[in-house]
Amino acid sequence: MAHSVPDLAYAFDALEPHIDARTMEIHHDKHHAAYVTNLNTALEGTAWAEQSLETVLTSLDSLPDDKRMAVRNNGGGHANHTLFWEIMGPNGGGDPSGALADAIADAFGDVGDLKAAVNDAGVKRFGSGWTWLVWDGTGLAVKSTPNQDTPVMDGEAPLLGIDVWEHAYYLNYQNRRPDYLAAWWNVVDWDAVAAKFDAARSG
Ligand code: MN
Repeated sequence: MAHSVPDLAYAFDALEPHIDARTMEIHHDKHHAAYVTNLNTALEGTAWAEQSLETVLTSLDSLPDDKRMAVRNNGGGHANHTLFWEIMGPNGGGDPSGALADAIADAFGDVGDLKAAVNDAGVKRFGSGWTWLVWDGTGLAVKSTPNQDTPVMDGEAPLLGIDVWEHAYYLNYQNRRPDYLAAWWNVVDWDAVAAKFDAARSG
């Protein structure tokens, strides 16, 4: 079954003023759609077309040589953006609660320290990529990835990821990536992050 772009659970303008409607529309309808189209094109006619995205992304070494880079870039792009839409929302911001809050306190000190670490990794990512909070199998960690590489490729569970490609912020923030990262935390949906945390720990 071919991969498809998931619908947004909120309107393009729901994250304003932090992320503008035009950026959301282009990002979801053009950029994410292109990753999905290119992924399906790369997988078409191979047995990998029937596999889950996670299976494909954790099996890149087994893919045909002439498909591997296209699947890495576009499959990663599909996975990363699907998560990105899920962990943002119109009633975002604030602080995490429950087990996730406890785990953040254990690993980073407090949520402000977590945000600083995620933002720092995002600012330092040269060129395009992502900055992440992941469950690495035993605990929480912050990391960044280049291009559309995803922690899934390393067997980790991404819980929160911020797109630091210029297409994610340029209309509103131009070259000011640190300002975008600072504002982004106003749209984080901590409940969605907590659900991914619970699933990762029990998985
Ligand atoms: Mn993007």
